[in-house]
Amino acid sequence: MSDTATPLARLEQTATSGTIAHLPVWAGIASSDVEPGVTELVDTATAEFAALEESLEPTWVGLMEPLERIEHRLEAVIGAITHLTSVKYSDEMQEAYDAVRPAIVAMSNTMSQSRAVYDAMVALRDSDEGQNLSVARARILDESIRGMERSGVALTGAQQDRYKEIKNRLAEISNTFSTNLIKEERESRVKVTDEARLDGVPDAVIEIAKNQAIEDGAEDAWHFQVNGVSYLGICQNGTNRSLREDMLRAFRTRGVQPDLDNRPILKEILELRQEQAQLVGFANYAELSLDAKMAPSVEAVWELLDQLEHAARPFAEIELESLTAFMVEQGAEGADDPKPWDTAYWAERQQEALYSYDAEALRDYFQLPKVLGGLFDLVTKLYGVEIAESTDASVPVWDESVQFFEVRRDGKVIAAFYVDPYSRPGEKRGGAWMNTVVGRDRLLATGDADSSLPVALFVMNARPPADGRPGLMSLDEVRTLFHEFGHATQHMFTEIDEGGASGMNLVEWDSVELASQFNEYWMEHKPFLRALTAHVDTGEPLDDETLDRIIDSRNFMVANATLRQLHFAKSDLTLHERFGIDESIVDPQALDIELGNQILVTPRLEGESMLPAFGHIFAGGYAAGYYSYKWAEVLAADAFAAFREAGLDNEAELAEVASRFRETVLGLGGSRPAAEVYRLFRGRDATPDALLADQGLVSPAS
Ligand code: ZN
Repeated sequence: MSDTATPLARLEQTATSGTIAHLPVWAGIASSDVEPGVTELVDTATAEFAALEESLEPTWVGLMEPLERIEHRLEAVIGAITHLTSVKYSDEMQEAYDAVRPAIVAMSNTMSQSRAVYDAMVALRDSDEGQNLSVARARILDESIRGMERSGVALTGAQQDRYKEIKNRLAEISNTFSTNLIKEERESRVKVTDEARLDGVPDAVIEIAKNQAIEDGAEDAWHFQVNGVSYLGICQNGTNRSLREDMLRAFRTRGVQPDLDNRPILKEILELRQEQAQLVGFANYAELSLDAKMAPSVEAVWELLDQLEHAARPFAEIELESLTAFMVEQGAEGADDPKPWDTAYWAERQQEALYSYDAEALRDYFQLPKVLGGLFDLVTKLYGVEIAESTDASVPVWDESVQFFEVRRDGKVIAAFYVDPYSRPGEKRGGAWMNTVVGRDRLLATGDADSSLPVALFVMNARPPADGRPGLMSLDEVRTLFHEFGHATQHMFTEIDEGGASGMNLVEWDSVELASQFNEYWMEHKPFLRALTAHVDTGEPLDDETLDRIIDSRNFMVANATLRQLHFAKSDLTLHERFGIDESIVDPQALDIELGNQILVTPRLEGESMLPAFGHIFAGGYAAGYYSYKWAEVLAADAFAAFREAGLDNEAELAEVASRFRETVLGLGGSRPAAEVYRLFRGRDATPDALLADQGLVSPAS
């Protein structure tokens, strides 16, 4: 690159591989360029936006396109920088990004809260042009308007002031809600001095507690912080009953410590959300939340939750009876009257007895190249595309182990993706995820193409190749890969050219996990799962019995897990629908406890409520949306049932269903409402029948 290029020019530099354009030049993004470069970018965007506001023209080309161009330029640069902080971490890069983040947030607020832009959008919608927009454009415009209305842009005077006041207060106290939990975790300890009490607890968890005790200045002691890791480590594995009780009591009563008490905060959050919803024209916050979701109404969500509860309940009781019988058989202490601190431990033991497999030994069967090959073959078979690694050495990568693949249909490249397979301790975050790099977009077309081609990326943390052996994956990693690849099929197979609605854009929040969970289902199909496996030394596939155990173990205690999700979902929904409106609900926790007593069958602590620690809904994005987990599961199971009905090994029939799936769910993305897209695929709405059947939650009589 030339010495005269500015920091921003270096950040925005891209490369092209064949027909794939807009690939960031990752190695050229220096942390020292981030602050000056992004500052320049935000300043430019601010100036462009101000100029646009001055001369607003209510046409697609005069309004929507320039807005998209400004947004896209910001997203491309920020996306590349945040990606690097996840896969090539350095303090310098992180600090540089943190320094510019407030300016980026301020910019995006300015854009989303512009009254002038809102008025112009409404004028466009009501114009002749607006009445004759394509389906995708009409939806982009309509959703933009509604999104702005939900965030109060149409309010005036005192109402507008109050809305802003609420918004700021909510941001502040939601943050307090989560920092209270973090502080409590940091200060909390379950202390052990008698080593015998640690029996059964995983070594890694014990070691953390040992180090914590040393840090606390305690000798011959173990200090467990009260968090998910300690809780699961002890309650699922510790043989000492009283230690399990201590940890369980501490964990399940978080959020109520003096000075860190979340109870008044969650009440205020609920009250403010109701007021906020009513200010922008909704009866309650649940309605506001659902306005942007696939679920048609609060009633429809209630109906689904009730239906699932009704189905799962008898099976949950059977599971508990079976667990209790197992405890008796094993001579468990308290088997006649299981306590909350017994169930997780004995469920683990029962699961081992029924479905045990050695997760570590299983890695030897999942060789990364073979798993990827199996996944690609599946995608080829279903969607008629070819996937091949690009040999083009000029494709920029962020690490030499990163691979770049091109997806072709009928010989033409239609999409591409990066795979960053192996763990790099210290610079790469744990876990596995996908992200989008380039979206399909008319405005980004190069050469004589109609639009840019979509590019995705996958990050995994598989064990790197060593001693002549390929990289090996855990079963969880394989499952996550399938999940993430499902998301990517929606990004890569989109047929929409409008950037705002292509791929996953504008796909409703409660249906966005359809494509990903659907793809996971293939791992439940035994012949397919078997074909993914080959022992690293012998090449032998995994034996039948182990395959069965892996597949069957998915449903172990599933009815109780379902009830737990339903309890969360129902508490969340009831509170956001009725708290502060229905005067009979005075105390959110009392309501939560009552719902828990109605829904759950496993033993609980007296007066147990998870609300003060329920960050998902009080400090995350799940408010009046927790049900989405179940909603998406229903969609994925119902969609996969269409493939089952065709016959999973019947290639011709399968190809037909798959092409319909590709053309609708994967192809149309957010260009139409998800419910409409789903009906185009299935010819009807989804029902929970397939999910319940897959999970074994169907009574013989029904
Ligand atoms: Zn997902």
